[in-house]
Amino acid sequence: MGFHTELLHGKAIPVNPGGEILPPVSQVAAFRYESMEDLERVFSHKKMGYAYTRIGNPTLSAFERRIASLEGSADAVCCSSGMSAITAALLAICESGDEIIAGSGLYGGTIDLLRDLEKLGIHTVFAGELTGAAVAERITGKTRAVFGELISNPSLRVLDIPEVAGAVHEAGIPLLVDATTATPYLARPIALGADIVIHSTSKYINGGGNAIGGIVADSGRFAWDFEKHAALSEFKKYGKGAFSVRLRTDIWENFGGCLSPVNAFLNYIGLDTLGLRMERICDNADRLAHALDAIHGIEVNYLTLENHPYHAYVKKELNGKGGGVLTFRAGTKERAFRIINALKYALIASNIGDLRTLVIHPASTLYLHSTKEEREEAGVYEDTVRVSVGIEDPEDLIADFTEAIQNADREQNG
Ligand SMILES: *Cc1c(COP(=O)(O)O)cnc(C)c1O
Repeated sequence: MGFHTELLHGKAIPVNPGGEILPPVSQVAAFRYESMEDLERVFSHKKMGYAYTRIGNPTLSAFERRIASLEGSADAVCCSSGMSAITAALLAICESGDEIIAGSGLYGGTIDLLRDLEKLGIHTVFAGELTGAAVAERITGKTRAVFGELISNPSLRVLDIPEVAGAVHEAGIPLLVDATTATPYLARPIALGADIVIHSTSKYINGGGNAIGGIVADSGRFAWDFEKHAALSEFKKYGKGAFSVRLRTDIWENFGGCLSPVNAFLNYIGLDTLGLRMERICDNADRLAHALDAIHGIEVNYLTLENHPYHAYVKKELNGKGGGVLTFRAGTKERAFRIINALKYALIASNIGDLRTLVIHPASTLYLHSTKEEREEAGVYEDTVRVSVGIEDPEDLIADFTEAIQNADREQNG
């Protein structure tokens, strides 16, 4: 089965009791039972069943099974947001005194989260570019997880998963990959060697910009050493399943980060068109990047540009695509603002992965709380504009940006 067919007809597509083509939205807090004995059996895991949506819900399960199938993971747990998914994954592995190694130039929210974890005694060591050698150099007796973004947003660095996984596994540590910007259409991180894959489903998986959500998929392959990974020691009897079981029955349940059933449904229907949208979005982004690159005084950062430092990874790791995010430098913050304000179709909004093209000036918004050094590690300068390319007609998009640049410069020159 090809990608698009698998999305619609793969083994994870549920057969619903009433013949519904889509899973019903179980928009409830609780589930009732005929007898107290029945509910007791559900609570003691002697009978499959749902009791309370924070602990499980059939609409959430339907969405989780599809992601697990796409990612080739043993299990997947959906969360209230991408940040909730990253938080839950890290807290399931790390406890006070432990260390994380992370690539620099991460999503701004993730940098802020890692700073919050410092107050809980979980320390992050930033590796600059996350390479096998950079990781090997920084591993200590306290390292418990290595975290990177497959295509970083918005710096557009690509993680060499096979190389980094090699270095990380040699030290008995799992590799966690945030693959939000790549999506399963560009890459399957588990097949490349990652142990845990995280998505903010608010972006390309939902695709319509209508629901926040996140998900953690566990390969179920990592051989946990329960002396080292003491945070998982109570779950030792589950062996390679220890992370998933702790994540679902302990961290996720108790921190209370469940996805709402309606949002699980919206993400579920978003998945149907993931392949189609990514094809169009990547094609549009490639064309727009080349058109902008030809304009004097505009410096474009996009993976399919021949001179991009990670260009080779497009073929090697990303299914021949560059993804939907590009950035460009306009020279000054003022020119960046003038260009953004002159756009007709591209909406000024802080999101990526929408059907509509979105633009933002990241330095004055998403990276407001970061230091200049952190911003520049993330590829964010005073004059950087981030574009999340949508599915509009490419000719219209190119015209919108080229005209906006001309109009912005004309306005400046009086
Ligand atoms: C948006 C995003 C997140 C956070 O996801 P939310 O759903 O907004 O909480 C994490 N990582 C990356 C790469 C993102 O783009």
